[in-house]
Amino acid sequence: MEEQNKILAYKSPKEHYTADACIVWCFDDRFTGLLEEFVKSRGYKNYDLVKIAGGAKTLASPENEADRLFVLKQIRISINLHGTKHVILMCHEDCGAYGGKASFTSDSEELERINNDLKEADHILKNNLPEDVRVEIIFADFEGISQI
Ligand SMILES: [Zn+2]
Repeated sequence: MEEQNKILAYKSPKEHYTADACIVWCFDDRFTGLLEEFVKSRGYKNYDLVKIAGGAKTLASPENEADRLFVLKQIRISINLHGTKHVILMCHEDCGAYGGKASFTSDSEELERINNDLKEADHILKNNLPEDVRVEIIFADFEGISQI
């Protein structure tokens, strides 16, 4: 093998794993701490993270159909490669993919729109994934996580 210029030494585990969940999460870094806390609260050992702008919005109301198919494929790969039986779909308050809070007239309008998208994303997965895969939809705000 050709000599490589290693810029960081780190031992990653070589063992394969079964994923406790596949999590679709928005890449907004303000919610990264919440993701870590959520995963810790669930006691997950391994999870497959699909971290994309808008999170579950890309399944429910993508800018184009190819984006939806890409996310669906990522979830299917998690199921096939890591035996995932649980998919978690997240959307959050003040998400740039929706134009942020400024694009809604009220908090309740924002919440309603996002909840509708989460339900739509849930529906899409139930129609496209094996029956034994459980789907959970969650809403994140600056105070924590609510189950929808
Ligand atoms: Zn977002």
